[in-house]
Amino acid sequence: MLNIVLFGPPGAGKGTQSEKLITKYHLVHLSTGDIFRANIKGATELGTLAKSYMDKGQLVPDEVTIRMLESEVNKNPSANGFIFDGFPRTKAQAAALDVLLKSKSTSITLMLALEVEEAELRKRLLLRGKDSGRPDDQNPEVIQKRIDVYNNETSPVKDFYTEQGKYKGINGIGEINEIFNLLCEKIEAAK
Ligand code: ADP
Repeated sequence: MLNIVLFGPPGAGKGTQSEKLITKYHLVHLSTGDIFRANIKGATELGTLAKSYMDKGQLVPDEVTIRMLESEVNKNPSANGFIFDGFPRTKAQAAALDVLLKSKSTSITLMLALEVEEAELRKRLLLRGKDSGRPDDQNPEVIQKRIDVYNNETSPVKDFYTEQGKYKGINGIGEINEIFNLLCEKIEAAK
């Protein structure tokens, strides 16, 4: 199996690159943000809970997020592999993912990290907010909170994969196809 963690701050381009990677490598795309948004749209209990955190730019609690992710992985028993997009966002989530994959006799192949500086992120997110309808992309304070949460809680997840020799950083500024090619090079080298 090819299991990729696509990592990076909000607005780094994870969703865009995931779409291209799943087409090329026939992987199942699991975006925790997309799953939460689908639950909000469907007015589920999980959606209501997630919304109360997302609207403030905070992380949804680990326990809830991990349980949801596990159930999504379990729904795809015959997958070629997964792209985890927006997960893990804490070290506890990373540790839980390792345990889950181990129980399925597989593991993370590599972490691809899109590196983009903060000023560019703020610009991209506000631009996306204009037509995405995402409330968390329309408020500069919520955007800043998400960037701060990334720096404080999510960024340490890099160390988790660096220690396993799986961390690969990529410059996330440039042409979409150029960045995609760089990601593919790293995947080919790790396969
Ligand atoms: P972005 O990467 O642009 O911030 P996402 O769609 O990945 O957007 O996430 C939107 C929001 O969903 C996050 O700000 C957070 O509140 C919640 N969320 C997504 N993934 C996770 C996760 N793994 N753990 C906790 N909260 C999450």
